[in-house]
Amino acid sequence: MKYYDKLIFELSREGRKGFSLPEDRFPSAPELPATLRRGTALPLPEVSEPDVVRHYTNLSQMNFGVDTGFYPLGSCTMKYNPKINEEMAALGGFAGLHPLMHPGLTKGACEVYREMEKALSEITGMYAFTFDPCAGAHGELTGLMIMRNYHMLRGDTARTKVIVPDSAHGTNPASAAVCGLEVVEVKSFENGRIDVEALKSLLGPDIAGIMMTNPNTLGLFETEVSAIASLVHNAGGLLYYDGANMNPLMGVVRPGDMGFDIMHLNLHKTFSTPHGGGGPGSGPVGYAKHLENCVPDLRVSGFHGNFGVILRAYAYILSLGRENIRKVGQYAVLSANYIKECLKDVYKLPIEGVCKHEFVFDGLINDGAREGVPGATTLDVAKRLLDYGFHAPTIYFPLLFHQALMIEPTETESKETLDEFIAVMRKIAGEAAEDPMILHEAPHNAPISRPDETAAARNPVLRYSM
Ligand SMILES: *Cc1c(COP(=O)(O)O)cnc(C)c1O
Repeated sequence: MKYYDKLIFELSREGRKGFSLPEDRFPSAPELPATLRRGTALPLPEVSEPDVVRHYTNLSQMNFGVDTGFYPLGSCTMKYNPKINEEMAALGGFAGLHPLMHPGLTKGACEVYREMEKALSEITGMYAFTFDPCAGAHGELTGLMIMRNYHMLRGDTARTKVIVPDSAHGTNPASAAVCGLEVVEVKSFENGRIDVEALKSLLGPDIAGIMMTNPNTLGLFETEVSAIASLVHNAGGLLYYDGANMNPLMGVVRPGDMGFDIMHLNLHKTFSTPHGGGGPGSGPVGYAKHLENCVPDLRVSGFHGNFGVILRAYAYILSLGRENIRKVGQYAVLSANYIKECLKDVYKLPIEGVCKHEFVFDGLINDGAREGVPGATTLDVAKRLLDYGFHAPTIYFPLLFHQALMIEPTETESKETLDEFIAVMRKIAGEAAEDPMILHEAPHNAPISRPDETAAARNPVLRYSM
């Protein structure tokens, strides 16, 4: 029997304790005034230390993390996070900092910011960076504020619309809307890239700029990016680069050289700081020299962003060095293409050709559908993967394909792991063809089977007792 077969949250027994302090430990402690004292004890669970340790350790084992297994979650870059980053972030001189400390005591931290700005500017071809934003979407908002300020300061107040491709990450249109800009969608071609002719027809004196992801969310490089850059610039707009997934390009090409004016990075994806479950993150925003005066005065976060995350990313960059940063992208691209080529005879590959760090399948080629039994879906494949000890890829995104299965292996996995994953994906395809019910009912050996994911996200139960 596994722990979760007897999932019990109420472990409290009256009088049980997790600590023992000598009675006379604080003989001279000043008494709290009676008005501030609690009349009755807080109703906290009464548990022993081993109860607590086992409870949380068992709970942690019901979870899946990049430290426990392969996590090919497309667009999220779940690469292994080297432990040296954690050691650096835990150094007392950094971990004990407070943003209101005397400047004389924070010089080391200031140097980290300066060095990181230099490194990121070099990697991206931007002029400077602000580190305030605490997530990718937060960076998008900050970057769009720079774009809006640029037009405002020139008195060009009619530019209130921003162009976003239909393949974009959902945060792009959301950030534009939060920034008070109207979103205009540009369609993709059959080959998954931006339709340049369609883009031309949208450009005009009301366009503030375009938000682009390159490689886009299908993992495809936008081959027309230089042409797009000149078109948008000639029409008076700016180019925003969503660099959340800089992984495939690092050390190879730079958004600044492609003609982008503003961009954000997700340090918590590309630069190997742990993420998931909503944080912590860091979405520094880079900008070209001509936008120096357009960076918003008001801070978008308290103090200077998520310093611990920035520090981890700094440790990551230094431990790789110039030579190996370049290899990150090359290996990430190689891994993705390897998986794609080994599976495309059993999963539908809607767009042929070399991908970058990720690619999208459109479900199974043979889903096993037959009289009275519906075929296996992408959700079923994802759930079945859990039974075999792999985290599911991103599913049903991007929205361009109905059965999207978006796979991003990253550069940190060995060939053995990739081969195991390929073997399991082939096995699942075989199961679907033979008996799709096995997949419909998956997962068979996970702690819980198929929760209502919307309800679980919207109404989480965060208390141990009601
Ligand atoms: C993850 C991601 C974002 C958003 O980043 P958050 O830190 O989750 O806000 C934006 N764009 C792309 C392409 C992404 O993959």
